[in-house]
Amino acid sequence: MSEVLELPRIHTLPKQLANQIAAGEVVERPASVVKELLENAIDARADRIRIDLERGGIARIRITDNGHGIHPDDLPCTLERHSTSKLATEADLQRVQSLGFRGEALGAIASVSRLSIRSACDDSGQGMGLECHGSSIKNISPVAHPPGTTVEVCNLFFNTPARRKFLRTEWTEYQHIQSTIRKIVLSHFNTGFSVFHNGRRVMNYPAVTTDYPRRIADVLGKQFVNRSRRIEASRGALRLWGWLGDPAIARNQSDRQYVFLNGRCIRDKQVSHAIRIAYSGRLYPGRHACFFDEFAVQHGR
Ligand code: ADP
Ligand code: MG
Repeated sequence: MSEVLELPRIHTLPKQLANQIAAGEVVERPASVVKELLENAIDARADRIRIDLERGGIARIRITDNGHGIHPDDLPCTLERHSTSKLATEADLQRVQSLGFRGEALGAIASVSRLSIRSACDDSGQGMGLECHGSSIKNISPVAHPPGTTVEVCNLFFNTPARRKFLRTEWTEYQHIQSTIRKIVLSHFNTGFSVFHNGRRVMNYPAVTTDYPRRIADVLGKQFVNRSRRIEASRGALRLWGWLGDPAIARNQSDRQYVFLNGRCIRDKQVSHAIRIAYSGRLYPGRHACFFDEFAVQHGR
């Protein structure tokens, strides 16, 4: 005779727990927080972004932008799941241009950190601030803030010790953050970025309007720009441009290979394969080409 089991009943998870589970997908490490916050700043049309990190981002990540800011009444909504200003209808979903649109990141990050948001949407000098400890909002009050938004994330995973244990050394986490920042810096030329780690300025990328080689040289080095071949092609709605590094500057690692599609860094098997074929016979075994390629697909064509 089979064992009689008590029939499990279904219930909706408490918000904090649901957010923590969602955080498992969104927030793997400090670099994932940096990615989400930078994408939000870019979606807010900021052209100047400052990134402050402490202890590899584990102790603090603070991102300040000069974007359009958040309406003071909307501040608490930023932490609600599926709450976004970036789309409203199914039709919007088909033509989404922003980097984010799911409305999940801030709520997920808040559930595993101490998060604060300060934002102003005009130049009155006055804005609104919100403080949150693991999903529960502790305080919302007026604050002084220039136009734009500052999001600060402290003590990542303070309330999820198992996740915190999986973090690597501060140095390793910092390397992951640097790699995330590089991808964003290489796909948003018109935005200036400055990065501080433990109070010291470690990177500065001024905005460029037309001098793209300068930005690429700032990130990938002058040698890459001087020793690469410029490529440009278009077919229908698809445009491709970039630089293919001379085989002589190939590296032992594949860490200088960047492919972007409409402002997002991607890894695509077909594109990688095509590039490998283009270089075949030109690289010594074990060497990896350096390249920067950007695809743009125009919507509505
Ligand atoms: P998503 O980016 O998918 O909309 P998020 O959880 O990342 O979701 O952010 C929620 C909302 O908070 C955004 O839709 C946006 O309206 C607002 N927001 C977040 N960061 C910023 C920022 N730096 N500047 C202006 N608005 C922001
Ligand atoms: Mg977002």
